[in-house]
Amino acid sequence: MTAVVFLDTETTGLHPITDHIWEVAALRVEEGKPDESYVQFVDHAPPGVEYLGTKFADDYKARYDPLAAQSRANVVTDLRHIFRGRAHLVGAVPSFDAERLGVMRRLAASNEPDPWHYHLIDVEALAVGYLRGKLASDGPTWGYMHASSVADVVHTLPWDSNELSNAVGVDPEQFARHTAMGDVLWVKAIYDAVMNP
Ligand SMILES: [Mg+2]
Repeated sequence: MTAVVFLDTETTGLHPITDHIWEVAALRVEEGKPDESYVQFVDHAPPGVEYLGTKFADDYKARYDPLAAQSRANVVTDLRHIFRGRAHLVGAVPSFDAERLGVMRRLAASNEPDPWHYHLIDVEALAVGYLRGKLASDGPTWGYMHASSVADVVHTLPWDSNELSNAVGVDPEQFARHTAMGDVLWVKAIYDAVMNP
């Protein structure tokens, strides 16, 4: 089983029950080659983003198109196809997306288990491990400023996604962050920087 699916969801807020997914994007990569890409608005009730910060609320108002949205049940079916063979789900803090997708699946009255492999892959954890290894092997040859800034990124909690991204050579500004597909492509770039440098 070599398939991974890079995935991101946009939600109406952070609450696991009262907030809902309104956009899903996924990119399935099999044998190292992208073979299926998916972006979909998700019909959700109740609508509204009153608890989101302005930036996210504005994005929702600008982009969400109820006429183009699919039912939760259809999106559950689509994702079952995209994750066929128990592909691994790769994301930035993918537990967030997996939990919300589980809620969405139950709201769609599906009792089938979620289709992804239970090993969720968090690119931020991958980046920290990669950078920690680099620090041990190459750090002594780096200048003090570079070594100490990488050490800060690795050891300061909570992790900062943008700092981790920059530290593995992926400029987060180059992606349409916080659109579902923009985040998928950003996550994939971090994964590739770590796994296929
Ligand atoms: Mg996102």
